Amino acid sequence: MNQFNINDIRKQFPVLDQQVYGKPLVYFDNAATTQKPLCVIERERDYYLHENCNIHRGVHYLSQMATEAYENARKTVAQFVNARQSQEIVFTRGTTESLNLLATSLGQLLVGEGDKVVVSAMEHHSNMVPWQQMLMRSKGELLVIRMDKKGVLDLNHYEELLKQRPKIVSIAHISNTLGTVNPIKEMIAMAHKYDIPVVIDGAQSMAHQVIDVQDLDCDFYVFSGHKMYAPMGIGGLYGKMEWLEKMPPYQFGGEMVDTVSFEKTTFNKVPFKFEAGTPNVGAALGLETAVKFIQSFDRQEVEAYEDELLEYATEELANIEGTRFIGQAPKRNGLISFVIDGIHPYDLGTIIDKMGVAVRTGHHCAEPVMTFFGIPGTVRASFAMYNTKEEIDIFVKAVEKAANMLK
Ligand code: PMP
Repeated sequence: MNQFNINDIRKQFPVLDQQVYGKPLVYFDNAATTQKPLCVIERERDYYLHENCNIHRGVHYLSQMATEAYENARKTVAQFVNARQSQEIVFTRGTTESLNLLATSLGQLLVGEGDKVVVSAMEHHSNMVPWQQMLMRSKGELLVIRMDKKGVLDLNHYEELLKQRPKIVSIAHISNTLGTVNPIKEMIAMAHKYDIPVVIDGAQSMAHQVIDVQDLDCDFYVFSGHKMYAPMGIGGLYGKMEWLEKMPPYQFGGEMVDTVSFEKTTFNKVPFKFEAGTPNVGAALGLETAVKFIQSFDRQEVEAYEDELLEYATEELANIEGTRFIGQAPKRNGLISFVIDGIHPYDLGTIIDKMGVAVRTGHHCAEPVMTFFGIPGTVRASFAMYNTKEEIDIFVKAVEKAANMLK
């Protein structure tokens, strides 16, 4: 197990060691995408230098090696989330594609005319629009779990919605705008009492928390590699085998078929049935390396360190006059969203960028959340294991300076 030594960790992320506008870069946009450690970059490079080949259909050496490596990556991811078998992991481009796959395929299996699907008031557009569009076609209804002004879901309202017998529940593990950690284990158990399958959007959680899909008993868990130190263009979905076997394919073409004639096509086994076309093999190997990178640390220690960063940043920002935190749930993780009275988040973000600090401003792909709070957007600072308290000091000073300039 690697010692949690911040200097050693930062050495693995050369991108952090640079100046922007003549100032040292402070990268607090990790909820949008994390930086990649050298081992991940090298793994992908190595694949293209020595191993590149299309997989699953070649008899020659390179193809067999690439196939084995890709299937090993699947095993590593399966073990990372404690899936029962590696076939329960489907590789996709990321969370958005996974959710589109589910809205299409699980939707086709379960959702008939006039049926309902439950999401929560704090969902990313990716966990709302695919369901909404599917329900528009089926003349169904999207039910939305209410939240309070702290950014906590109302579980009584959730229970009421479950009584309406929706066909699917789909909720975020951690909100990308509020940082709220939802009580998903409890919410999954509540839905299961009504025999309703639950999809968890894990985009913001995989890098920060230990995920055990068997313990959670979720039916599906979706994620993006690029938010957990892996390359862009790879992610996946965990699904219980009994669902994946019943679900129809999502896209059609090569790889996902068994036999094909002009009259009839039969489909490949799970998970290949859901992986039409040539996958992003190099990125899948990068994802495997990212998983191993995360696993090389004591997860509890990393989580505690990231919590410490969050707490420290919250305390320091609270000292700035007019700061209002958007999302004050008792259980938060990874990020802070805030506004400063009288200042547009975009202006604040633009000014602190010139001081070397990278944060995200805007609605964070969750417009209904902004509408709920009656604001155009927030400033969001999100942390990863390589961030430091010194960076938080720079960030807070930059926010203070910008706020004074803009008032
Ligand atoms: N859900 C949540 C909670 C997210 O934070 C994001 C990314 N911001 C997504 C879904 C979409 O992820 P991706 O763009 O990687 O598909």
